[in-house]
Amino acid sequence: MDFDLQRENHELKRQLAQLVERARQNERVLARFQKVELRLIGIVSFKELVEAILEDYREAFELDVVTLALIDADFDLRRSLMDADSPASGYPALMLFDDDSVLRRLFGDTPRPVLEPFSRERHGELFPPGLPEPASVALLPLLRWGTLVGVLNLGSVRPDRFVPGMATQFIEWLAAVASVCMENVANNERLKHIGLTDALTGVHNRRYFDQRLREEVDRALRKGQPLSCLLIDCDHFKRINDSHGHLIGDAVLREVAERVKDQLRLSDAMARYGGEEFGVLLAQTGTATALAVAGRIREAIARHAIDLPDGKTLQLTISIGVATIEEEVRGADIDARAREVVAAADRALYSAKEGGRNQVRVGEIQST
Ligand code: GH3
Ligand code: MG
Ligand code: MG
Repeated sequence: MDFDLQRENHELKRQLAQLVERARQNERVLARFQKVELRLIGIVSFKELVEAILEDYREAFELDVVTLALIDADFDLRRSLMDADSPASGYPALMLFDDDSVLRRLFGDTPRPVLEPFSRERHGELFPPGLPEPASVALLPLLRWGTLVGVLNLGSVRPDRFVPGMATQFIEWLAAVASVCMENVANNERLKHIGLTDALTGVHNRRYFDQRLREEVDRALRKGQPLSCLLIDCDHFKRINDSHGHLIGDAVLREVAERVKDQLRLSDAMARYGGEEFGVLLAQTGTATALAVAGRIREAIARHAIDLPDGKTLQLTISIGVATIEEEVRGADIDARAREVVAAADRALYSAKEGGRNQVRVGEIQST
């Protein structure tokens, strides 16, 4: 009898120890999840979010491969990664689709998590070659306001990791957190974009120009590279407003912005500097090249008349002032150098106006 009791007691203790161990394990897993979630919630840029989802999810949940496919119809996500100097091509596990056709084929009209054995035919597009090939996968639809915006794909080399009929509450929670964070980041980036964009022309605004000027001057001084600044002003713009009206004047400004932008590289910065004035920054560019670019811009406006919405055409010219921080200038006060280069370009612009307009002039920097 005593012996039986003892044995039973022993068995109970063993079971209890097992339960405690399992609880501890769950607790550890939960703590890991919460850590990842906390990190995710704090992220404000798309680049960081992508990296966190692809890397942290894989590690925290002991997966062999995690990929993310998102619909990027307006190119916003690709632009955001480009702005962060990390183009989408650098992330093999990130797929950005122009439309929702691939996702629709997978989920139909009612997006629900899919857990099943991996099939190259069905899932190949979501797990591109070059990444570890999983044996079982979980495809978790990402929804924003009820609309499918992407899919988070978890893959394991273990065939029994994801099987149909498995409880999906937990991984659905993961997907929901990822969706909310995505929404948060998208809003944040949209706000940032709006704050730095000129509503009329769609190019950057003065605030962006001033920020970028500081960054470019800093870089130029550190690296001992030249930096050129162009200030562009439309000639006799007041007359356009006076004879055609303000709305036509607005349309002309949009066309000027387009034509200037067409003459620039992706790495150049352009902004609407003021009313009918635009500013351009050419990194790693000395006076000779800056003059050539300015000449091209002047021509791009003067050569072709602008078609107006009412069917008429209008001949416009612009004047451009150019100034360059030469490569010899180093390590000086960034704000002073930034002010000087713009002031020099402004003086050159004034002299182009004085000289008869429709021309490019160079200004000398006067050190303060
Ligand atoms: P100049 O060749 O000396 O530069 O002559 P200008 O007439 O262009 O110069 P001024 O600076 O006297 O006039 C600029 C004009 O640009 C006046 C202003 O009404 C117009 N302008 C500024 N911002 C806008 C805008 O957003 N839309 C329109 N339609 N006109 C604008
Ligand atoms: Mg003007
Ligand atoms: Mg002006």
